[in-house]
Amino acid sequence: MDRAQSPTRPNSEEPADCAPSIDVIVIGSGAAGLSAALFASVNAASVLVLEKSGSIGGSSAMSGAGTWIPANHHARAAGIDDSSAEALGYIRAALPEDWRASENRLWTAFVEKAPETLEFLERHTPLRFGLVEEPDPQAEKPGGKVRGRMLSPLPLSRRLVGSYAPKIRRPAIPHLFTYQELRRDPYAHPLATLVRFGPRLFARLVTDSRGQGSALITGLLRGCLDRGCRVELGTRVQNLLSDAATGRVVGVEAEQEGRRCRFKARRGVLLATGGFEWDSELREAHFGGHVDRIGTPATNTGDGQKMASRVGASLERMDQANLYPLLPIGYENGMGGLPALFQAHPHAIVVDRTAQRFVSEYDYNIGEALDRRDPASGRPIHLPCWVVGDVRFLRRPLMFRWLAHREKGWVRSAATIAALAGLIGLPPAALERTVERFNGFARAGADEDFGRGESIWERYKSRSEANGKNRTLGGIERPPFVAVSFNLAILGTKGGARTNERGQVLRPDGSIIPGLYCAGNAMANPFGTRAVGAGTSIGPCLTWGYICGHGLVRESQ
Ligand SMILES: Cc1cc2nc3c(=O)[nH]c(=O)nc-3n(C[C@H](O)[C@H](O)[C@H](O)COP(=O)(O)OP(=O)(O)OC[C@H]3O[C@@H](n4cnc5c(N)ncnc54)[C@H](O)[C@@H]3O)c2cc1C
Repeated sequence: MDRAQSPTRPNSEEPADCAPSIDVIVIGSGAAGLSAALFASVNAASVLVLEKSGSIGGSSAMSGAGTWIPANHHARAAGIDDSSAEALGYIRAALPEDWRASENRLWTAFVEKAPETLEFLERHTPLRFGLVEEPDPQAEKPGGKVRGRMLSPLPLSRRLVGSYAPKIRRPAIPHLFTYQELRRDPYAHPLATLVRFGPRLFARLVTDSRGQGSALITGLLRGCLDRGCRVELGTRVQNLLSDAATGRVVGVEAEQEGRRCRFKARRGVLLATGGFEWDSELREAHFGGHVDRIGTPATNTGDGQKMASRVGASLERMDQANLYPLLPIGYENGMGGLPALFQAHPHAIVVDRTAQRFVSEYDYNIGEALDRRDPASGRPIHLPCWVVGDVRFLRRPLMFRWLAHREKGWVRSAATIAALAGLIGLPPAALERTVERFNGFARAGADEDFGRGESIWERYKSRSEANGKNRTLGGIERPPFVAVSFNLAILGTKGGARTNERGQVLRPDGSIIPGLYCAGNAMANPFGTRAVGAGTSIGPCLTWGYICGHGLVRESQ
């Protein structure tokens, strides 16, 4: 698409100049990349977005586009009190204390720029966001909010991007519902859904409108195209080109349709290539062997992290990731993952390899608990883990039943808890004791061990707010008993090039690599595995893209 015409190629060894020199090169077309491309192009820079796959949008297009932006203008209009200072206080209270020294400047930049980013996006694209009723996952912490920081795009017609529409990356299931509508659990109640949403779903089908990540990428792309950005698909960037004398990054080398191309950038290059979850070597090195599923496009192979490292960048936070329960679902001729809190079911618990519970099953940050590691050896403390439930766990969640059969042998069942333990290799007496203890909590209506269903987040998720009853607790008593493996499931790793608060990539000694910026999951993310908001990937990705856009347009040519 829009490819440079008639590239010249000096000889077979040398890459050809495949386009005239440009101000800014953005590598990767997800939320981080397109947000930066939009800012730079709105501010009169010429921008080229290079995307490795044949589709635009990366994981961002597949995502729910739950967007965590504190102190935003929609919350203000709804009369919700919030400020950047409160958000910063919350982030400091909610994230690991020993992160403060390295991340405080980035947290500060994020809370200051995030509200501005959202206004900018709505001003320069057709995107319109709506508030989501979700609380902060750690709303009890100082500065936490019960609503107002979570948003998601309203539906947009993909026709807005004309011939690019079929090129927008497809999610695992079509984004016919908005993130806000998913609160009503439409897939669990098909008839009620048809009655409630029928006419608007029909209108969306007719107008090719979609919500969530599909709307996000449609809107961002339209904004970028309106400002003259060029997007080249099927272009895998392989190397950064540096000036030998100054170390400044001045362009990239890429593979395009089987030929080697060189693209020169007058102002700078942004790495927005996403995570490294599909690179088995990197994944194994930083997450060990207990990964059940990956929910992102297979093009996220850590190219940005590797390129950054080759020009001397410091790679940090490589053991951090968006870890979230995923159901097995087919995607692009392989197996992918569909985010679903399926373990959060009244008649189920999560146990570790010693048959003990170790976390509330409704905790938003259950992925962090699964990934807890021994500080001395770095080995996982709990894995492998299991969801153990009774027959009612299988009966209710429609989506679970629909998808569970895709992975043969995933769901195992037995007539007794002891027999189930034998099937999955857990100590039978220990599992019986754990189930009995939990059943006692269910009868009493209170989980003495992990306070399941008691936090603001868990009450919201289980709809226990209304009558004050804890709806998360139910006994595991009725055979057959079932177990499903429950290990790490990755929605994007979050480690990469260390940056300063302006998004500039740093060397281990803290010096700046001139001309090189990094945003999104390719950067050493100041929000790691522990989420401060349900959407603490997309909001920061958009914001870091916007911040990097500022830096890039300020670079002298
Ligand atoms: C199903 C799903 C649901 C999610 N829901 C949410 C949610 O509701 N809220 C939230 O905050 N987060 C959510 N996430 C996580 C979130 O989507 C990601 O963290 C975020 O989109 C990462 O954005 P990014 O711009 O850094 O990378 P991506 O969107 O992954 O984009 C990276 C792009 O770079 C391209 N690329 C890679 N290497 C190269 C190369 N060498 N040359 C050129 N291009 C390259 C890739 O092909 C890809 O298109 C979800 C993720 C998934 C998969």
